[in-house]
Amino acid sequence: MSASFLKTKKSVGKINVLTHFILNYLQVYLRHLPTTYPKNLIPDKILIKRWIEISNSSLINQSNMKTHKKTTIMTLGSHCSLQVLKGAKDEGFDTMLVCEEKRYDMYKRFKFIDDIIPVKSFREITDAKFQMDLVDRFNPILIPHGTLISTLNMEELENIKIPIFGNKWILRWESDRVLKQKLMNESDLHSPIQLESKNEIGGLCIVKLHGAAGGKGYFLVTNKKEFEEQAQRLIESKTIESEEDLFIQKYANGVPVYLQYFYSPISDELELLGIDRRYETDIDAIGRIPSKYQMASIIEPSYTVVGNIPIVLRESLLPEVFSMGERFVKASKKLVPPGMPGPFCIEGVYDNNANFTAFEFSARIVAGTNLYVSGSPYSDLLYDVPMSMGRRISLEIKKAIDSSKIELVTT
Ligand code: AMP
Repeated sequence: MSASFLKTKKSVGKINVLTHFILNYLQVYLRHLPTTYPKNLIPDKILIKRWIEISNSSLINQSNMKTHKKTTIMTLGSHCSLQVLKGAKDEGFDTMLVCEEKRYDMYKRFKFIDDIIPVKSFREITDAKFQMDLVDRFNPILIPHGTLISTLNMEELENIKIPIFGNKWILRWESDRVLKQKLMNESDLHSPIQLESKNEIGGLCIVKLHGAAGGKGYFLVTNKKEFEEQAQRLIESKTIESEEDLFIQKYANGVPVYLQYFYSPISDELELLGIDRRYETDIDAIGRIPSKYQMASIIEPSYTVVGNIPIVLRESLLPEVFSMGERFVKASKKLVPPGMPGPFCIEGVYDNNANFTAFEFSARIVAGTNLYVSGSPYSDLLYDVPMSMGRRISLEIKKAIDSSKIELVTT
C-alpha cells in the first residue's frame, strides 16, 4: 500500500513539476506582452494572462481560489478611477478599467490596472452583450461614480447586468431633485428652501441644473427677470431645453464643507473617512479681484468644480457630523432598501453659528476623496494602513466575499 502511495505521490510530483515548468515558461513569454491591450487583441491575450494568474495563485495558496482573487474590481476611467483601482489592488483584487480610447495612453501608465478595455464612448457600457462579455471574462464588480451617473440615464444604470457596488436604486434618488429632497427631509437634514416657481424668487437664490454636473451652469439670481435672462442664455447654448430643467434654491450663506462617509452593512458601522471643500470657478476666483474691478466687470459667478481642498473640522462639530450620517443611513434604509451600503457624501455649508445647512448628498463615492489616496486625518484614526475611500470599498467587498454576504454590498 505504501509503495503504490509513493508511486502516486511521485507521479503527482512529476505533474506538478511539469505544470510549474509550463507556467514558468508561459510567464516568461507573457512578460513580453503589454499589461494592457488594444481592443483587437483583447480576447486571447487577456484570457491567457488571467489563466496564469489564477493558476499561480492556486499553486501558492489554494484558499485564494475561493476568495476575492477571482473577483475583478472595475470602474470607468474618469472621476476617481485611479484611487478606486489602486485601493482594489492594495486589497489583493484584480483590476479592470473601461476607458475612452483617447485616454488609453494616460491610464496605461498605472501598473495597478491589470486590464484596460478601450471604448469609443462610455455609452458602450449600456450594450447588454458588452456587459455579459465582461461578466464572463472578469467576474467584475462595478464601482459607480459621478461619470457613470452623468453618462447613463437611470433606467440604463438600473438595467446594468454587472453587479454594482452599493445600492444602485438610490442613485435615482441622487439625480432626481424631488426624491433627493424627500430623502434629505426624512434624514432630518436642515436644507435650503426650494422654490416652486420663478415667481417666488426674492433675495439671493442659486439656480441649478438637474443631475451630477459638478456645479456646471449654476448661477445666482435675486429676481425673476435675472432668472429669465440667464435661463434664456442656457437655452440658446443648448445646455438646457427649457426653464423646467432648472431648479431654484435659496442661497445658503456659509463656508462649504463636504462630509465623506462610509457605511458598512456588514459591521453596521458608520465611518467618517474624510472632509473636503470644492475649488470652484469662478466663484472662488472672484475674491481675487478688488471690489471696484468686480463692480466694473461682467463676471458671473459660476460653480464649476475644478478640484478639491482638504479640511479638518473643529472636533466639537463631529458629534453632529456623525449624527447626520447616521440619520441618513437610517432614512435610506426606510425609503430605498437596502439603504446606503458604502460611500456617500453630505454636502453643505456651516454658517456663522456653526450650524450646518445641507444642500446635496451623493449616494456613492465623490471625487473629493481623491485627496486621500494615502489616508486622511480621519481614516488614520480608524486604520493602521493608508485607507482611501477606494481601498475601503474593496476591503468591504473582501469582507463580504469572505463571509458569504456579497448580496449586502451589491445590487
Ligand atoms: P452641488 O452640485 O449642489 O454640490 O453644488 C455645487 C456648488 O454650488 C457647491 O459646492 C456650492 O458652492 C454651491 N451651492 C449649491 N447649493 C447651494 C446653496 N443652496 N447655497 C449656497 N451655495 C450652494
